[in-house]
Amino acid sequence: MAVESAVSTPMANPECEKHAKALQFIEEMTKNCDAVQEKVLGEILRRNANTEYLLRFQLNGATNRDAYKTKVPVVTYEDLLPEIRRIADGDRSPIFSSHPISEFLTSSGTSAGERKLMPTIAEEMDRRQQLYSLLMPVMNLYVPGLDKGKGLYFLFIKAETKTPGGLVARPVLTSYYKSEQFKKRPYDPYLVYTSPNEAILCADSFQSMYTQMLCGLIMREEVLRVGAVFASGLLRAIKFLQLNWKQLVDDISSGILNPRITDPSIKECMSKILKPNPELAQFITKECEGENWASIIPRIWPNTKYLDVIVTGAMAQYIPTLDYYSGGLPLPCTMYASSECYFGLNLKPMTKPSETCYTIMPNMGYFEFIPHDPVNPMPLSRDSPPRLVDLADLEVGKEYELVISTYSGLCRYRVGDILLVKGFYNSAPQFKFIRRKNVLLSIDADKTDESELQKAIENASELLNEFNTTVEYTSHGDTKTIPGHYVIYWELHVKDPENAPTHEVLNKCCLVMEESMNSVYRQGRVADNSIGPLEIRVVKNGTFEELMDYAISRGASINQYKPPRCVNFAPILELLNARVVSAHFSPSTPHWTPERRG
Ligand code: AMP
Repeated sequence: MAVESAVSTPMANPECEKHAKALQFIEEMTKNCDAVQEKVLGEILRRNANTEYLLRFQLNGATNRDAYKTKVPVVTYEDLLPEIRRIADGDRSPIFSSHPISEFLTSSGTSAGERKLMPTIAEEMDRRQQLYSLLMPVMNLYVPGLDKGKGLYFLFIKAETKTPGGLVARPVLTSYYKSEQFKKRPYDPYLVYTSPNEAILCADSFQSMYTQMLCGLIMREEVLRVGAVFASGLLRAIKFLQLNWKQLVDDISSGILNPRITDPSIKECMSKILKPNPELAQFITKECEGENWASIIPRIWPNTKYLDVIVTGAMAQYIPTLDYYSGGLPLPCTMYASSECYFGLNLKPMTKPSETCYTIMPNMGYFEFIPHDPVNPMPLSRDSPPRLVDLADLEVGKEYELVISTYSGLCRYRVGDILLVKGFYNSAPQFKFIRRKNVLLSIDADKTDESELQKAIENASELLNEFNTTVEYTSHGDTKTIPGHYVIYWELHVKDPENAPTHEVLNKCCLVMEESMNSVYRQGRVADNSIGPLEIRVVKNGTFEELMDYAISRGASINQYKPPRCVNFAPILELLNARVVSAHFSPSTPHWTPERRG
């Protein structure tokens, strides 16, 4: 294995030495997985022994796994909500953590329609930074020469708010990009980006994207890797180029920045970067003016060695489109992380996305696993906490749900991710990310579950009451459009054909559904432009009966058949699309502000 052999290779310069140390660290952590986990749990329990939360379970100073596992319950966000509300309202007593809560990280997972609030402590930033510092040393083993050029990364900050008690609440990456660790990062030839900090830190998403794209075009020959956090973000950048290349070309040709860029710090930094370059302007025009955008990424950025985006989990749906624009460049997924805790990294980043495995770094938190059996789920009573499996004791070929305990004070918290153990690196298991539990539809960071979709359908159906009309439905996340959008297939049962719902009413139904979606969805629609308008496709009467016939022909039981609430299977989608009689879109965007509802 490359990591292992590289550890013993002599290193010539300070960068190499830094990489060697990082690889050595990975070796140590993965060789001593169980011992590190025991140590981490001990540290967490010692430092948080006098927190209100842990005192409740009478560990009486015990810091070992046995005591922890028998006394402390496995919980979900909803179980912690009363304490989280108190912290948000300003209670500064040590509730979960002996260290002061520095801010809330807002997860893209929601509770009651709003982003979950994850209390965090200042030192967690260092732990996250440490995981980041392992990524390039691993990548460098597989793709040499990444220090000879730049990364074109589309990175953005999002809106932040304050809780009633005055704590900042923002996404983890916004917190990271705004941190001194990021802004004042020491020069590292492996981490040179084309995007200036001023552009990344600009809250206006148009100005930020415009500037980042402009810099990427200007420095096109230096670019060795192109990326964003998630695949959907990179595709949004390509779409942006399709829509705005003429203005970008004008700027490059004249050396004058588009007047829509008004942010003073961007204007100042671009005055040093943007110079008239008619030759480059001509080249970009030639590449962008035609209809053919296949392989546009290597055409514009010819030295790109790979795309750095996450394409595992919900993002796998974007692989064919990325392949189209990149001409099949490798798609390494480098890390696996969440607002609650950063988990680990991919030690073989150049493998195919379908084979991507993540190795959880045992120093990041204490990890336990619930064996995942959807047919016979493990009972999780609060009174008799179940015996969960430890990181080092997992079995290859089995699926598990991840449960974490963190330095910030989350204890035995169910993240909701289902992972499959594919093998071990030293004594650390390597996981394939299977899915996030209960997610029906996802285009970008949004995660819509079945009950949210059902509620949205119910709210929209109210508009149909006066038409004496009921609906049957299913859904699909359509990622053929950029940005992708939710498609809801409706079969209308109209009692009186003289009084059927009109096109306008059905358009309005789309908007009512969007208004009913959680805040991450609405933010994607309104602020990030990462989700397109919701579409209702009305299908011919009898279509859902055909769906049932199809399922039964493939072995489903008639008695137990329920129409699927989301479809991804190509033959079923073809069947549905062949029966569409009309299509309707939201006439406007739903309501969204950074402030939380309710
Ligand atoms: P958030 O809480 O918004 O930061 O989202 C974290 C969640 O994103 C994780 O719990 C996973 O469900 C998902 N996620 C993060 N990294 C990956 C990855 N590399 N592959 C697939 N899903 C991921």
